Amino acid sequence: MDPASPHLFEPASQRPTRVRVDLDALSHNLRALRAHAGVPVMAVVKANAYGHGLVPVALHLQAQGVEHLGVAFLEEGVALRRAGVRVPILVMGGIFGPQAAQLIAEDLEITVSSLDKLRQVEAAAESLGRKATIHLKIDTGMERIGVHSYHAGPFIEAAVASKWCTVKGVYSHLACADDPVSPMTRQQLEKFLDACAHFTRLGAPMPIRHLANSGGVLHFPDTCLDMVRPGIALYGVLPDPASRATVELRPVMSLVSQVVYFKVVPAGNPVSYGATWAPGVDTRVVTVPMGYGDGFPRSLSSRGEVLVRGQRHRIVGRICMDQFMVDIGPLGTAYNEDAVALIGRQGDQAITCEDVALAAGTIPYEILVGLNTRIPREYIGG
Ligand SMILES: *Cc1c(COP(=O)(O)O)cnc(C)c1O
Repeated sequence: MDPASPHLFEPASQRPTRVRVDLDALSHNLRALRAHAGVPVMAVVKANAYGHGLVPVALHLQAQGVEHLGVAFLEEGVALRRAGVRVPILVMGGIFGPQAAQLIAEDLEITVSSLDKLRQVEAAAESLGRKATIHLKIDTGMERIGVHSYHAGPFIEAAVASKWCTVKGVYSHLACADDPVSPMTRQQLEKFLDACAHFTRLGAPMPIRHLANSGGVLHFPDTCLDMVRPGIALYGVLPDPASRATVELRPVMSLVSQVVYFKVVPAGNPVSYGATWAPGVDTRVVTVPMGYGDGFPRSLSSRGEVLVRGQRHRIVGRICMDQFMVDIGPLGTAYNEDAVALIGRQGDQAITCEDVALAAGTIPYEILVGLNTRIPREYIGG
């Protein structure tokens, strides 16, 4: 482990910056999404569970009875198995040939996205003497991985005939479901259902059909089919500013720190690197021990806001690697160790991940997954 890892220090001697994860909010969102979709949930926990902590989140979801988990890579699936996660796990990313044997040995379900990959997985399964559990990936409009829906017939036929593969699922991925009015989703659903019809034509049992990401669950009930794969909504965040909150979701993450320094900056004196901002009048400025070295976006320089003592205040000057400054105004009051919320609630004020993404000029996903492991995760509830 990294000798500077925050995990080697007692909480009291750590820098007070935390990602706080509300496990009760996570349970609530799982139940709410499942009830809304009316089908089992494959909870997507890739990318360190969208920054919330891969293993603790997966163990909590398992305890809450989640039906399935989805990860991007072999490595993430293996980490979950090592941590004692027993529920079915689908590795959704494209696999590399040499990974097939390990995926099977670790009891991970494999995304098969071409005839070639099917042959690789079969060969690995045969050499291990153990059947692989696979989900066939159909491309209906992402042009990412998967067999084009209009070429799915021979692919599905080969998979169904395979002695060494059990076809547990068939799936595709929606490109525009975060936009409730995009016509793309309906077209993708039609292409997907056309591809699934090959199972019927072949007289093969229909595997689990799954298509809906968070946007699909929120906006397009028809796409929920036999199972849904929400990621970001599970964490209580909407995929896009255009998204509709058709399910009552609770934010799971707050990002908190404390004031580490207080000063008066005289009018005209610039703050931080590049001297890009200076106050017009004498003002009070506090320093917060967090920066882009933690994955807090530098693009929030002089744009983002934080909560101190229940009030919104602007980040001023450039965000540094490990610290940034906040203007609390000429009459503002703050003391060292006052709580600072970068994402979260203080009194009746809240700053959401969506607010931060908008100010940073990016999407909420990138904010969540960008918060790196230098910040300790703290779990509450559950
Ligand atoms: C990431 C991912 C999801 C989850 O997407 P959200 O928009 O976070 O709900 C679902 N399916 C696949 C294949 C993914 O890669």
